[in-house]
Amino acid sequence: MAFTWEPRWEKVKIESYGIVIHTCRDRITKMIACPICVNAAKTCLEQSSRTDYKPSYMFFFTPEDLIHHIRNYHAMRYLKKPLNEKL
Ligand SMILES: [Zn+2]
Repeated sequence: MAFTWEPRWEKVKIESYGIVIHTCRDRITKMIACPICVNAAKTCLEQSSRTDYKPSYMFFFTPEDLIHHIRNYHAMRYLKKPLNEKL
C-alpha cells in the first residue's frame, strides 16, 4: 500500500544560521520543500525561472535539515563537477 498526497503550497521564508531561503511549504503537513528540487520559483513563488524541469518532492521537517540537504547534496555536487561543466 502506498500513500501519496498532492501538496497544497504556500510561500515560506526560512531563516537559520544567518541564511535566508524563500521556498514552498505544504500547508497541511507544514513540511518544507527544497527550493531547488521542487523548482520553487515556478511552483509557489510565482517568479520566472531560467530553468524548466519536472519538480521532485524533497521535504524536511526543520530549516536545519533543509540547509544540510542543500549543502551536502546541491553544493557538493556543484563543487565536484569539472570546471568546464559549470559554465
Ligand atoms: Zn534539493
